[in-house]
Amino acid sequence: MTAPVMLGMKLPDVDVWSERVTVALGQNPSLFTGPGTNTYLIGTGPERILLDPGQGVPGYLPVLERAMQRAGVSRIQEIVLTHGHPDHIGGVRAVRERFGKLRVSKFPWPEADAEYEDLELTLLDDGAVARTEGATLRGVHTPGHAPDHLCFVLEEEQALFSGDNVLGVGTTVIPSQNGDLGQYLDSLARLLALAPRRIYPAHGPLIEDGVAKLREYIAHRHERERQILAALRRGPALVMEIVKIVYAAYPEALHPAAAQSTSQHLRKLEREGRVRASDPDALAARWTRT
Ligand SMILES: [Zn+2]
Repeated sequence: MTAPVMLGMKLPDVDVWSERVTVALGQNPSLFTGPGTNTYLIGTGPERILLDPGQGVPGYLPVLERAMQRAGVSRIQEIVLTHGHPDHIGGVRAVRERFGKLRVSKFPWPEADAEYEDLELTLLDDGAVARTEGATLRGVHTPGHAPDHLCFVLEEEQALFSGDNVLGVGTTVIPSQNGDLGQYLDSLARLLALAPRRIYPAHGPLIEDGVAKLREYIAHRHERERQILAALRRGPALVMEIVKIVYAAYPEALHPAAAQSTSQHLRKLEREGRVRASDPDALAARWTRT
């Protein structure tokens, strides 16, 4: 899930981004997924890892089959997930119906995983490795957007599959439920320390300079925080009042999503003792600088 982005960005349904990375577009474009979820065939051999099989829309399987043909893939080795949001895990059942009972691996999130007991999930920890011919994926636990979020380093390229943590288009939503902006910023710092060359995001085009994009993402959040604190200088305010100031340039239809991110910023500032809320409900509270 991305922050709402302009519809209309078009990506090819199938594309080869490196000798190890073929992308099949998930066919689920929306305000929140941009051009759709990027689903990746990874490796160099006839059997490859499928990372994030998308949302489960009917148009996806023919696209995946074309991608397999184009890359010379005869079999999917296994499915690996960056996290359990529906536009990433939702396509697993259809892929298993078509290609057999493939192993499905992800970082544990017991509350959310309970819905997918039939998949008999294999649980991946921080540092876990998935291997196939020509590719080694190393999981990096990067919570914040979702508690179970894993990015994967593609060791052979010093590249990063960033899931929803870093996107080729727009910015990441930090959901008010189960999201955590403080953790997200820690995750971005952890990814920056890995100094990735390329980033293969879950939504939007390939990112050629991973380090520059990570720096841009971190700077963007700091700028938002500065803007929110500046808005509160005018006096106590509700989240939606802050949104109207900080996101004045954005269409009002996007303000509810902006309110989630703003609430997350305020929660982080509250933990740091820099603001306080008049009510435990972030949206109902008047926020004041301390
Ligand atoms: Zn997500």
